[in-house]
Amino acid sequence: MKFNFPIIIIDEDFRSENTSGLGIRALAKAIEAEGIEVLGVTSYGDLTSFVQQQSRGSAFILSIDDEEFSSPEASAKAVADLRAFVEEIRFRNADIPIFLHGETRTTRHIPNDVLREMHGFIHMFEDTPEFIARYVVREARHYLESLAPPFFRALVHYAADSSYSWHCPGHSGGVAFLKSPVGQMFHQFFGENMLRADVCNAVDELGQLLDHTGPVAASERNAARIFNCDHLYFVTNGTSTSNKMVWHTTVAPGDIVVVDRNCHKSILHSIIMTGAVPVFLTPTRNHYGIIGPIPLREFSMENIEKKIAANPFAHEARSKKPRILTITQSTYDGVVYNVETIKDMLDGQIDTLHFDEAWLPHAAFHDFYGDYHAIGADRPRCRESMVFSTQSTHKMLAGLSQASQILVQDSQTRKLDRDIFNEAYLMHTSTSPQYAIIASCDVAAAMMEPPGGPALVNESLSEAVEFRRAMRKVDAEFGDEEWWFKVWGPEFLAEEGIGSREDWTLKAGESWHGFGDLAEGFNMLDPIKATIITPGLNMDGDFADHTGIPAGIVTKYLAEHGIIVEKTGLYSFFIMFTIGITKGRWNTMVTELQQFKDDYDRNQPLWRVMPEFIAKHPRYERVGLKDLCNQIHSFYTSHDIARLTTEMYLSDMVPAMKPADAWARMAHRDIERLPLDELEGRVTAMLVTPYPPGIPLLIPGERFNATIVRYLKFARDFNARFPGFETDIHGLVKGEDGRYHVDCVKD
Ligand SMILES: *Cc1c(COP(=O)(O)O)cnc(C)c1O
Repeated sequence: MKFNFPIIIIDEDFRSENTSGLGIRALAKAIEAEGIEVLGVTSYGDLTSFVQQQSRGSAFILSIDDEEFSSPEASAKAVADLRAFVEEIRFRNADIPIFLHGETRTTRHIPNDVLREMHGFIHMFEDTPEFIARYVVREARHYLESLAPPFFRALVHYAADSSYSWHCPGHSGGVAFLKSPVGQMFHQFFGENMLRADVCNAVDELGQLLDHTGPVAASERNAARIFNCDHLYFVTNGTSTSNKMVWHTTVAPGDIVVVDRNCHKSILHSIIMTGAVPVFLTPTRNHYGIIGPIPLREFSMENIEKKIAANPFAHEARSKKPRILTITQSTYDGVVYNVETIKDMLDGQIDTLHFDEAWLPHAAFHDFYGDYHAIGADRPRCRESMVFSTQSTHKMLAGLSQASQILVQDSQTRKLDRDIFNEAYLMHTSTSPQYAIIASCDVAAAMMEPPGGPALVNESLSEAVEFRRAMRKVDAEFGDEEWWFKVWGPEFLAEEGIGSREDWTLKAGESWHGFGDLAEGFNMLDPIKATIITPGLNMDGDFADHTGIPAGIVTKYLAEHGIIVEKTGLYSFFIMFTIGITKGRWNTMVTELQQFKDDYDRNQPLWRVMPEFIAKHPRYERVGLKDLCNQIHSFYTSHDIARLTTEMYLSDMVPAMKPADAWARMAHRDIERLPLDELEGRVTAMLVTPYPPGIPLLIPGERFNATIVRYLKFARDFNARFPGFETDIHGLVKGEDGRYHVDCVKD
């Protein structure tokens, strides 16, 4: 496999007809003769954007000549420029070779701290271009060879080797596709390498994911080193699966477990699968529908014991000591916890502390996050409890979909038994893992190696904060008379840079979050997630009179303009500044929002501004954008829906049976399908999850209360009234009569 990483030459004479121009072009020619492309530029223009090229090149050659040192002032400037260049490169890349190219005397002028970062000084006219080229190319190749982490390296080697395979997958390195026209299309679309690299676990030289051997194991160890944990496992079926693995290695039927009520549904699946008895910690929630932190007092063992005592099924447990605590670390809206505080409170009281960090794999790579993530450099071990973190590599880092990883920190008194852990791992892994996903886990980890990883996280943070500043600037320009979108976050925003951690912590009683009396230093907002608030609803749950802009309309509008957002709430939606974000992308968001405002203020008809939507839902053809917003807004207002959803999520859920027992009734079809009118007081066999926010509302074995039924009826009426804007509720099924039903346990 030949990779294309040119050697980049920066020389102001690169195109000149003088001696120095001839000399540098001769060197370029000699390098190309050695088989590496050369990219020649006469200056680097904007340094920061130029240095982004470090990811594309295999070496830099920077020309500098004696004239630049003709006076003390000129000399000082030349050295400062050079130092800035080297520092910018080394901020992101510790290893790419940098050569200086100049006259012999030039070296004398260059201070040691700069020279130290050089791979060599090329003396013009001292050696032949061919000799220098071989030297530079050797260093460049050496650098490239050091890049690939173990598994990716082995996979590239294997795919390049073109050996004939007799093992599965049946497409045999893509050959099967070539035998049919549509297969040809598939082959052309994905390309030869993707198919050649799609191999099965019979290939010994690549190692095994399932027993963690060979290059796979070497890569997992490499990632463990980079992420600073004791054990790290790649998982190719998403964090949904990682969570189930962590649970199955430690939880048995009847065990008491402590769970964040606003957890991902994979945790609820874990409860059902293990047969655990859950007690829930209840997070705060504001009327925007934003889920806040679980207050510190909820974590006290006294509070947890009270909940256990109140649970009707806890008596079945062999021990009252909870097996596991699972916390969503970084909620959908980006609220994180101080993990050391939780460890201090619960070490030894709960066997395993599990942080579902699906959205937080970047946090270990920036000082900004401090103790607000689970596992990292210099973090103290618990005395007794094991700490687990599960991370969706694919959500925030450069992983393919389903790329995920499990991080483990042993305690002072206990080490993970890897053999036992792996039994749980096997329980949930396909015996045919997708090798491209493993390779992306490997590469995503290698990308986070300092200094490159921290530089990437720094960039995401900076862009996220720049975006907030840009939104405020637009707001200021519109002035008080005009409406504009707000980005949810602390009032104070540093004028430059990302600000301090303190700037982003949630403090008691602040009105921007509305989560009330929070403990000091316990929670922070991750700026990388930006929740955008649309007008129409205030923090008390009051709707503005007559006008409001439901977020669902904004996000549909944005979608027609090529912008897909991550999650939509009632009057908020959020976007993420992953390491893939660019300035262009968020600037487009700002301009599209301005476009929306324009179209809204003019009440443009929908056929004009949302033609794709109208093709599917012609009934809104002549409705104006503002009129539609107001129609939906008044429907929300008349149902007081902000308060209703908040109440429903905070209402006391009464377990009538263990989740696993309710599921067993389902498996045996010992259930009845009931319409909404008959639900109150009945026990659900289904997991009921409204989207948004995608947080489970009712868990198998719990009873429907009046608030939840009221919400479901609202959703039914809303969906009938506004087709195209349906609230999706998993767990609801349409009966033969077209009405919504839920499967409940037979009385
Ligand atoms: C997305 C998510 C998961 C599941 O991750 P996948 O990689 O999509 O399987 C688990 N927990 C939380 C909090 C999530 O947001």
